[in-house]
Amino acid sequence: MSVVTLRRSSDYDEDQVHRTVRLAIEDLGGLGSFIKKGQKVLLKPNLLIGSDPSRAVTTHPSVVKAVASLVKEAGCTVTIADSPGAGAVYSHASLRKAYHASGYDKVAADLDVELNFNTETGDRSFHEGVLMKRFTLIRPVLEADVIISLPKLKTHMLTGLTGAVKNIFGCIPGFEKATYHSRMSDRADFGEMLVDLERAVRPQLTVMDAVIGMEGDGPHNGRPRLFGAIMASADPHALDLAAARLLGIEPMSVPTLAAASKRGLLPPAMEQEVGGDGLTGLLIHDLELPATFVKDKGTSVAWRAAGSLTKPYALRPVVDREKCTGCGSCARTCPRMCITISDHKARISHKNCIRCYCCHEMCAQDAIRLRRSMAGKAMAKVMVR
Ligand code: SF4
Ligand code: SF4
Repeated sequence: MSVVTLRRSSDYDEDQVHRTVRLAIEDLGGLGSFIKKGQKVLLKPNLLIGSDPSRAVTTHPSVVKAVASLVKEAGCTVTIADSPGAGAVYSHASLRKAYHASGYDKVAADLDVELNFNTETGDRSFHEGVLMKRFTLIRPVLEADVIISLPKLKTHMLTGLTGAVKNIFGCIPGFEKATYHSRMSDRADFGEMLVDLERAVRPQLTVMDAVIGMEGDGPHNGRPRLFGAIMASADPHALDLAAARLLGIEPMSVPTLAAASKRGLLPPAMEQEVGGDGLTGLLIHDLELPATFVKDKGTSVAWRAAGSLTKPYALRPVVDREKCTGCGSCARTCPRMCITISDHKARISHKNCIRCYCCHEMCAQDAIRLRRSMAGKAMAKVMVR
């Protein structure tokens, strides 16, 4: 049986996606290998702040619907839950808005399954954590018998790739996420934290929407791109490794994969392990990486040693005043409180900015630009070849 499977799907036609998802899960031994009749099953898509499915920001509703209907058919109760991105308040109103924008309210109505509106949280201890021993999580994660993660495959400004492991970050409630950016000193630590989190939450199955993903400045403001696949695995690290290979991203430049590799969590010889239709014919050689992502620098000793250099090198968030509506989402997101709103426009003080790009990720107006300072431009000439 395959560790990771890939089935081709070139669009989001509901029937086709349903068949493809069913096939992918059968490749892994069938849904019965993961769930039992009567269990409470949580589906955890990538909701971010909610977005029209055509923008490829969120897990497509046809993928959520396919998995939800299969789980329901198996006699389980289904709850669809995520907490929106770091800058959004974790409230009934923000969830309603995000579910509607992403088409999940229609999925829930069509199938008569539950959308989570419980905004309570609780703590889970995780003594085996390398970096983190305790996490605050959204309530439905704590109450589910089984978690099925439904990530969207995209590029990501901070982690290079967002897939199976990064999707679990959504189990941390709204604004609490932003504090992790200020607590983790670099990408490597952020990757370690995410691997701890995945181990603490332990999704039993991951079904990845890699039909139309995102390249460029993901996870919110990149460009949709056809990847043509539904991928699945019981092992989110193996799945991310296969996804990195699909996209042509050096796996060890992705902090979660580097952390997983250090812990011995990655299976060997992955090329032989991708089952179903396999990777052949789908491999991407010209993916546009995020502007912030420098291959091989994210986890290298040099990157850590050059910690003091990374700040001027890193792109700075700059407000496009023409586009800014003064909504304040970026200011609420910022873990270092660098952003104020005056005269209905955002203003960023770069003194304490840690370049986490939460503001860029959360701005629905695309009004945060990322630019290098003069010193950063000079360094870029040396560091990027
Ligand atoms: S930069 Fe974006 S998120 Fe911030 S206030 Fe302006 S429109 Fe809102
Ligand atoms: S201003 Fe800096 S610290 Fe604040 S959210 Fe934006 S990138 Fe992060």
